[in-house]
Amino acid sequence: MKILVTGGAGFIGSHLCDKLLEYGNDVICVDNFFTGTKDNIIHLIDNPRFELIRHDITQPILLEVDHIYHFACPASPVHYQYNPVKTIKTSVMGTINMLGLAKRVKARILLASTSEVYGDPKIHPQTEDYWGNVNPIGIRSCYDEGKRVAETLMMDYHRQNKVDIKIVRIFNTYGPRMALNDGRVVSNFIIQALKGEDITVYGDGQQTRSFQFIDDLVDGVLKMMNKENFIGPVNIGNPNEFTMLELAEEILSITKSKSKIAFDPLPADDPTQRKPSIQLAKNTFGWKPRIQLKEGLHKTIDHFRDRLKIKEL
Ligand code: NAD
Ligand code: UDP
Repeated sequence: MKILVTGGAGFIGSHLCDKLLEYGNDVICVDNFFTGTKDNIIHLIDNPRFELIRHDITQPILLEVDHIYHFACPASPVHYQYNPVKTIKTSVMGTINMLGLAKRVKARILLASTSEVYGDPKIHPQTEDYWGNVNPIGIRSCYDEGKRVAETLMMDYHRQNKVDIKIVRIFNTYGPRMALNDGRVVSNFIIQALKGEDITVYGDGQQTRSFQFIDDLVDGVLKMMNKENFIGPVNIGNPNEFTMLELAEEILSITKSKSKIAFDPLPADDPTQRKPSIQLAKNTFGWKPRIQLKEGLHKTIDHFRDRLKIKEL
């Protein structure tokens, strides 16, 4: 198949490109390199089945493809709040452009949505039928509401134009190739621990997240894309839930770092708890995550150690 990956030079997109090529597809990666980098896909550049296009998806693009994995959008709060107007344009105009492309060439399109559509959730764990608790005017809204509109657009193009759609709600995912300046918690803590800097826990560190290793996510996304007669939305995440203090302690223990924990102010609208219900993915296409936090952290720490050229203690 000929497959388009938007955001293909980013953390998740680059791992998707790898797997899609491994399975024998032709892959077109479209990216504007806002948070993505050529380093993430440099090993693919000489592959004749891989094509890289520098393009901003807020502008239309004409391509002929069978499947679209629509992943372009900054995902870390630091990056999506850097230029919030651009973030929401990317979600809204970018998704309209990709849906227009899907409609024209009759391609199947999968949207990388997010657990952020649940906002600061009032039900726990979060099931797909929950409508969420999102502040529409806060500093996270450019991302949260952008993705909620992207989901609406997907559903309306499906109902109105019969576009073949899939919606995946991704929960906190980590692993090799996260940007060094990404700012999300796992890469921050690992880099701080390896460099012996203070571990910056925001708030009292009692807020929770459920962390999924990248390989499990890619597996779930591919299974969802290839499942017939199911549009979602479906949660893809690891239901094992940790406080940020527990995460900090686990990373300190694995790295044997002497870093101290420092408490910094909690950003506005930071969700207090988050954990996916994954029953729907399990029942519909037999997916569940396989890599638990300790194992995934070991792999990610080894990767960052190599990248930062820091020797093991
Ligand atoms: P990332 O920042 O590493 O990747 C995003 C990619 O999109 C980058 O390569 C960036 O350059 C590109 N991009 C951004 N704006 C663009 C534009 N206007 N035109 C073209 N390219 C553009 O982030 P990620 O963690 O790989 O996330 C990828 C997708 O998955 C995002 O849509 C994100 O919302 C979604 N997601 C990720 C997580 C997670 O935990 N990593 C959780 C939920 C949802
Ligand atoms: N966080 C933290 N220290 C950091 C970065 C993040 O304590 O250096 C906290 C953040 O406040 C949030 C959690 O970790 O409660 C997850 O943050 P992240 O940015 O990774 O993802 P999101 O909030 O979008 O789930």
